[in-house]
Amino acid sequence: MPPWHDIDTIMFDMDGTLLDLHFDNYFWLQLIPSNYGRLHGISEDQAREIVKAKYADVFGTLQWYCLSYWEDELQLDVRQLKHTIKHKINIRPNVEQLLEELHNLKKQVLLITNAHPFSLEIKMQHTGMGTYFHERISSHSLKLAKENPGFWESLRQRAPFDPDRSLLIDDSIPVLRQARREGIKHLLGITQPDSQGPPLECAEFSQIDDFAHILPSTPESGP
Ligand SMILES: [Mg+2]
Repeated sequence: MPPWHDIDTIMFDMDGTLLDLHFDNYFWLQLIPSNYGRLHGISEDQAREIVKAKYADVFGTLQWYCLSYWEDELQLDVRQLKHTIKHKINIRPNVEQLLEELHNLKKQVLLITNAHPFSLEIKMQHTGMGTYFHERISSHSLKLAKENPGFWESLRQRAPFDPDRSLLIDDSIPVLRQARREGIKHLLGITQPDSQGPPLECAEFSQIDDFAHILPSTPESGP
């Protein structure tokens, strides 16, 4: 349970934290390879190998999250493909209840994502959760990925927060590690970011699966 009394700012990751990562895994690991294979006249398995190698080349950099980069690299209309499966975007359990309570407690609530601004927008439109956040920031606007050195310092210039009184909830272990290096005191991971994938083993950070377990309104916590 986060010590809500000691926390003024809560920063949420989007994919795998607020939203089921299944959408993104399905998109990048199934839909993209099958479309790439069709375009190039190769099997889906061959396409998957090629695409995975391309992913590995830029993993952990901002390009990995950049739709324009992938549209050039794969010669696919990635944005249009996202539109075709937006019905698969799902909110994780009790997210809205937690956001509502934090809003009522007048906490500063930020959405901090590596997602491209187009993906951020399509997901906010589809889920209608955009209004819960004081700011919705794509790391593209800071020209650094969240796991890159200096990201969190740079974010503080854009959206001031006190690292000692801030909580980051993020399903990415490299992102949590970088936030810890840059002094963010309260860190929480996600047990199973993809509802159809395996749990994420992590000894370094506390993890949560259902936000119902950390609601400030539950008797043992208090605001
Ligand atoms: Mg994530």
